[in-house]
Amino acid sequence: MKRALTVVWLVWCGGLAAGATIYMDGWIDLNKNGRKDVYEDPAQPIARRVADLLSQMTLDEKLGQLQQAWREEGDEAAFRDRLRQGKLGSFLGGDEKIESPTVRNRLQQIAVEESRLGIPLIFGHDAIHGFRTIFPIPLALSCAWEPELFERIHTVSAREAAAAGIDWTFAPMVDLARDPRWGRIAEGFGEDPYLGALYAAASVRGFQGTNPAAPDRLIACLKHYVGYGAAEGGRDYNTTEISEFTLRNFYLPAFKAGVEAGAWTVMSAFNCLSGFPASANSHTLTEILRNEWGFTGFVVSDWNAVEELIPHGVAADKAEAARLALSAGVDMEMVSSCFADTLKRQIEQGKVPEELLDQAVKRILQVKFVKGLFDKPYVDENIHKTVFLRPDAIALAREAAIKSCVLLKNNGILPLSKKLKQIALIGPLATEKAELLGCWASRGQTDHVVPLADGIRAKLGPGTTLTVLPGCSLFPTDTDAAQIQQAVAATANADVVVLALGEPRDWSGESASRAELGLTGRQTELFDAVVATGKPVVVVLFNGRPMTIAHLVTNAHALLEAWHPGVQGGNAVADILFGDAAPSGRLTVSFPYCIGQVPIHYNHFNTGRPGPGKFRSNYLDAPLSPLFPFGFGLSYTEFEYGKVQLSATSIKRGEKLIARVKIKNTGTRPGTEVVQLYIRDIAASAGPRPVRELRGFRKIHLDPGEEREIEFVITARELGYYSTDGRWLVEPGKFNLWLAKDAASGEPVEFELVE
Ligand code: BGC
Repeated sequence: MKRALTVVWLVWCGGLAAGATIYMDGWIDLNKNGRKDVYEDPAQPIARRVADLLSQMTLDEKLGQLQQAWREEGDEAAFRDRLRQGKLGSFLGGDEKIESPTVRNRLQQIAVEESRLGIPLIFGHDAIHGFRTIFPIPLALSCAWEPELFERIHTVSAREAAAAGIDWTFAPMVDLARDPRWGRIAEGFGEDPYLGALYAAASVRGFQGTNPAAPDRLIACLKHYVGYGAAEGGRDYNTTEISEFTLRNFYLPAFKAGVEAGAWTVMSAFNCLSGFPASANSHTLTEILRNEWGFTGFVVSDWNAVEELIPHGVAADKAEAARLALSAGVDMEMVSSCFADTLKRQIEQGKVPEELLDQAVKRILQVKFVKGLFDKPYVDENIHKTVFLRPDAIALAREAAIKSCVLLKNNGILPLSKKLKQIALIGPLATEKAELLGCWASRGQTDHVVPLADGIRAKLGPGTTLTVLPGCSLFPTDTDAAQIQQAVAATANADVVVLALGEPRDWSGESASRAELGLTGRQTELFDAVVATGKPVVVVLFNGRPMTIAHLVTNAHALLEAWHPGVQGGNAVADILFGDAAPSGRLTVSFPYCIGQVPIHYNHFNTGRPGPGKFRSNYLDAPLSPLFPFGFGLSYTEFEYGKVQLSATSIKRGEKLIARVKIKNTGTRPGTEVVQLYIRDIAASAGPRPVRELRGFRKIHLDPGEEREIEFVITARELGYYSTDGRWLVEPGKFNLWLAKDAASGEPVEFELVE
C-alpha cells in the first residue's frame, strides 16, 4: 500500500518510520522507507502491477476507476474530495481554461498524492481532426486516398493535445456512413469498409505511435461501436437495424482493423443495434470484440449512454442499466453515474459478481500503465507554447486541404489565370474563418484560419482587382434580398465569379441531421442571380457532407468540393483555383442526385431485379445512379486507361493473380490519378456480394505524355468476405475485376477461382 493514514499508527511506529515522508493531511509514503509496492515499480510487468494494485483496492476505489466525469469551469473544488477518496478515474472535456496542463496537473496531484493508493487520472478529449492546428474534417481527408496522411495528421494532433495535458483522444471515429442526412458523416471516412479499415489503422498509428507512453502520443479510441452510422432516416441517435451479414462485411471491418493496429480503447455507441442498445450489447462488446478479436483494452460508454438504457427501454432504472452495461462489456462510464451509484449495493447483494467489476478495473488500470501515467503522472506545463501550430503542422494542414479537395466539374475555366483583370469573390463563405474549421474544431481558433479571400488575394498581383461580397447569409433566418442585388452588381466587370457557398459547420457533426441537403439560407437564389449575369461561375463548396447539388453542377462552369478544410483552407483552395496545385481528391462517398435516393452507396447488392424498366428496382421520378459516384474526381489533365490484362483466367486457391493496366496522362499538365481495383464475386454461398467492392488502389503521379503500367496482386485477401459467424470465406467461382477511375466506370474482366 502506498499511503496509510492514522495518526495513532504514526505515533506508534514513529521510531521505526524514521525518514518517512509526511504528506499534507497526515498521509505517509511508506515506500520512501525502502521497499516499493509491486504496482509502483516500473520494472515490474504491467500484469503484475495491475494485479498487485487491484488486490489493495476497496470496492469504492474500484468503482471510482469506472467513472469518467465531465469537467466544467468551477467544478474543480467539487471534484477534490472525490479525487481524494479515489472516486474518479478519468476526466473529459471542458474548455481551454480548465483543460490546461496546469489545471490537469493540479487535479492529478490530488489523485496521485492525496488519495490512498495514488492512482492517476486519465484525461480524455476529442481531437477528431486536429487539436490547435485544425485539419480538414475526416470525410474530406478520406478523399485523399492516402492512409499515411491520417497517420501524419494524428501524429501532429497527438503532439499538440498531449502538450495540453491530454492522455487519450476519442478518435478515430470509424463509423461507416451512407446517409448524408446524418451530420456525423463528416467525422468518418465515407461509405467503403476497405478504405475505412486502412484509415482506422493509420489513425491509430498516428495517435499512439509505437509507444503510447511517449509524451507526444495519445491513447486512441475507436468509436462508436457499432452501427451508429446507419441511423434510420439519418436522424442522429436513432435506431439501427443491421443484419449480422452486413455488420460483418461493412460496419465491423474498420473497428477490427483499428483493434489489430493496437487501439487501446473502444467507445460503445448510443444507438440501438438490431434490437438491443450498442452500449449493452454483449454480442458485439464481448463475443466479437473480446472473444473473436482478442481486444484487451477497455471500453468506455459514449456520453451518458449507460443511463440512456432507461429511455431506450431495456432498463427499468439506473441499477439495471449498470448491470446490463457492465455485464455486456462496458468498462468505464462516461458522465452518467449508474456504475458508481448502484454497483456497490448490487455487488453486496450478490446481484453482480465482483469479478465483473474487477475485470473492468483491471482493463482500465492496464491502459493507465500503458500510457505511463503511474510513472509520469504530470505534464510539462509550458511546452504547449512551443508545440502548437508549428510550421510543419501548418504546412501539413495546407497539404491535407489540397489533397482533400475534389474537383467535380470543370468546363476548362480552371485553373484560373493570375493575370485576370477583375475577379468577383461572392458568397457567405468568402471571408469566413470560423466556418472553415469544421464540425469538431477542438481547440482551433478562428484567428488562425486563412479565409478564401485571403488565399486568393495572396495569388494576385497589382494588375488584378478582387471584389469580395457575401451576397447573403449562410443561415436561413436572413431575408435581405438587397445583399443579393449588391453582389450581382459587383460582378458587372468581373472576368470570372468565384462563388463560396456551402453549409454552416455546426450543420454537420453531432446532433446535426438534415432532412434537406441543399444550400442553406438564400444561397441558391444568390447562385441563380449570379448565373443569370452570364459570367463564368466557379463554385467552391464548403460543407460537411454530400449535398444535393445537381442544379449547381448543371449551371456552374466549375465546381470544387472543398469540404470544411481547416486552418489552411483559403490557401489550399487558392492553390488549386490558380493551378499552383492540381486537384487530386476522389470521393469516398456517393453524392445523391436527390434526397429520395438516400441511402445510396456504390457497394450495394444487385437485387433480383436490377436496372431500369417496369417491375425492376428503380425510381419513376429520379435516376438510379448518384450524381457523382464513389471514387469520382477530376484533374487538370486527362488519364487514359488501357485494357486490363490478367496473368491468368483461372487460378487455384492459394495462387496469386496479377492484374495490370497502362495509364497515360494524355493532357498538358501533370496530374495525380487514383487507380481503383474493384472486385465482384458473382455467386457467394453465405449471402450476395456487392455489385463492386474496392479491394485496392494506387495513387500515381504522371507528367504530361507519361505512361505507366500499374500492377495489382490479387490473393485470398482480396477475394473473400465474412460469413455471419465472422469467418473469412474465399469461395471458388467466377469473379469480375475492374481497374478503373471510379466505381461507375471501366469494363470488367472475368476470371475464375478453382479448387
Ligand atoms: C459523442 C462522442 C464524444 C463524446 C465526448 C459524445 O456526445 O458522441 O463522439 O467522444 O461526446 O465528447
